[in-house]
Amino acid sequence: MQDAKLAAKAHDTHTTEIALTPMVSAGGPDLLIVGGPCSVESLDQMTTIATHLAQAPVQALRGGVYKPRTSPYAFQGMGSEGLAILDQVRRQYQVPVITEVMAIAQIAEVSAHADVLQVGSRNMQNFDLLKALGSANKPVVLKRGLSATVQEFVMAAEYIMAHGNQNVILCERGIRSFDTYTRNVLDLGAVVALKQITHLPVIVDPSHATGKRELVSALARAAIAAGADGVMVECHPNPDASVSDARQTLSLEAMVELVDSLRPIAAAVGRNIPLGRLNPEPALV
Ligand code: PEP
Ligand code: MN
Repeated sequence: MQDAKLAAKAHDTHTTEIALTPMVSAGGPDLLIVGGPCSVESLDQMTTIATHLAQAPVQALRGGVYKPRTSPYAFQGMGSEGLAILDQVRRQYQVPVITEVMAIAQIAEVSAHADVLQVGSRNMQNFDLLKALGSANKPVVLKRGLSATVQEFVMAAEYIMAHGNQNVILCERGIRSFDTYTRNVLDLGAVVALKQITHLPVIVDPSHATGKRELVSALARAAIAAGADGVMVECHPNPDASVSDARQTLSLEAMVELVDSLRPIAAAVGRNIPLGRLNPEPALV
């Protein structure tokens, strides 16, 4: 990895642990398990998810409010209203929340209400956005572009770092190939390679990688076995009713079962799934 100055490993055992909050981090001995819907839909939806996933437990919640949709006629996300919901749930349950920023103009607003800023696959090489995220005071989850090489992915992280923000978590989410059976092809080889060439945490999103809920849990387990630092999985109280990505969305029960099934695999690769960070009895706010 010739050009990466900041993202490349300085020596074999060089890894970086990135704090999402003082209690939750990625890239250390603890795995980062992230669950939540494709899109934030209502306060009731997010509260149900947070309450249920406190049992899993997950360490962070996800939910899109600015959504990159293929069709301009599809639901585009709740925007600021959805961000207020995320903020309320994060305070109430004391859980970090991750949500996407699609444009430079959204960075300040999203940073004020979320713990982690996500760069979606379609924006991985939006260099102006990457440069602007260099000045953001929040960690960034950078998703691999639909057709990005490993080199391009690492250099996209390098953009954010070179502009001042060292807190970048890489996310493999599947790449485009010829087979339409799965939505994308999960590149676990890239996960192993990224762990060898960069010191940054690497997580895996098996939901967008497969597009089919029946494939998600097995690939999440494979990701942890391959050395990923965590997984990010879409789940919903009523998966078939999800406003976006219903077909790949797990039920909350399936999500709890998935986290349980990850425990022996985590132990086998020397990792740990921390106990609950979500406060199951939320304080009134
Ligand atoms: C998402 O995680 O909400 C998303 C849109 O994923 P991707 O950018 O990987 O398609
Ligand atoms: Mn989605």
